[in-house]
Amino acid sequence: MTNSEPITDSVLDIEKIRKDFPILQTKVYGKPLIYLDNAATTQKPRTVLQSLETYYTQYNSNVHRGVHFLSQQATEAYEEARKKIAAYINARFDHEIIFTKGTTNGINLVASSFGKKFLKAGDEVLISAMEHHSNIVPWQLICEEKGATLKVIPINEQGELKMDAFDELLNSKVKIVAVTYVSNSLGTVNPVFEMIQKAHALNIPVLIDGAQAIQHIPIDIQQLDADFFAFSGHKIYGPTGVGVLYGKEKWLNEMPPYEGGGDMIKNVTFAKTTYNELPFKFEAGTPDISGGIALGAAIDYVQQIGAATIQQAEEEVVAYAFDRLSAISSLRFIGDAKHRSGAISFLVGNIHPFDLGEILDKQSIAVRTGHHCTQPLMDFFHIPGTVRASFAFYNTKAEVDELVKGIEKAKRMLE
Ligand code: PLP
Repeated sequence: MTNSEPITDSVLDIEKIRKDFPILQTKVYGKPLIYLDNAATTQKPRTVLQSLETYYTQYNSNVHRGVHFLSQQATEAYEEARKKIAAYINARFDHEIIFTKGTTNGINLVASSFGKKFLKAGDEVLISAMEHHSNIVPWQLICEEKGATLKVIPINEQGELKMDAFDELLNSKVKIVAVTYVSNSLGTVNPVFEMIQKAHALNIPVLIDGAQAIQHIPIDIQQLDADFFAFSGHKIYGPTGVGVLYGKEKWLNEMPPYEGGGDMIKNVTFAKTTYNELPFKFEAGTPDISGGIALGAAIDYVQQIGAATIQQAEEEVVAYAFDRLSAISSLRFIGDAKHRSGAISFLVGNIHPFDLGEILDKQSIAVRTGHHCTQPLMDFFHIPGTVRASFAFYNTKAEVDELVKGIEKAKRMLE
């Protein structure tokens, strides 16, 4: 593929869309970049980059504190972004949107704060076998502190949750279920609607790790009825360093603050501090102001194309990739779920994923290799890691063809 070749894909005018992303015009080793590492982080449209520059060149100032013009402008833009995010996921209240550093930070907040208030010795926390380390370790930490037990919903060979096991594991000792919507390693889309309903039937709240869902699947949080939903800005075309924790007002009001500092207080004396209202109770210190505003710009961009259109375009390119990759002899998929999104993991013959990744890199194809922060999942499949190609709506079928050629080349070199 060359930069000048026409791209005739799908429901979108991809050629036009790709021009919105400056980095997609760059070359690696003299060849056009083929970026298939979108599960790790997505590329940023110009409007997001411009919003960062506009903030720093025109109204850089701290939020929520100043009476001066710039501070008010920054506060307004930051709070406007919160509103946009709330509207995008259809939250009932804007104050259910807590700005965080990202998914990891959001899950740590819930594990620590919810855990402090609601977990005691003998209780259980239920996660799944396909969780990212971010949705394992925070729960291990709080379970250890409280004497609670971490239970794990097992998966089958296709990389799907065993729902009969989930039913058996749900009992009155479980105080929270924390599960990923979409697996970053396998691309499995979990039946989270059904899981939330079942947990709620026993009054158990559910946290959804939305890190790999927010950019691929339209989210209506009231319909989903999740109690908590965490995601990262950088996975949905926004900047790194900022993310969102959605929490139902009822839980957020009951939970103690996670961190102490400026902005999260109402009144401080040495004898006693009272806390600010939501969302500020959970937002101690100066936030990533430009990041929050730019995340708002990313949401604008996504909405302009349409989340459902994005989903359709991605499904097409992922299906095409599956088809083309299936034809490669000695390639085996790791994870073969019926419902999937975004990422495809595979191994080729006896080639180490790292070696394959390096050869693809030299052909300007960026894929991920390794355990993808899901070591227990790799242990389940008895493998050290996979090669993962992960897609966004700006990826083309021509890029998939290049990936296939790249793998064939690696096979000739290494097999
Ligand atoms: N959860 C899942 C499923 C992920 O894919 C990731 C990142 O890849 C995370 C959590 C952590 O996200 P972050 O590093 O942005 O906090």
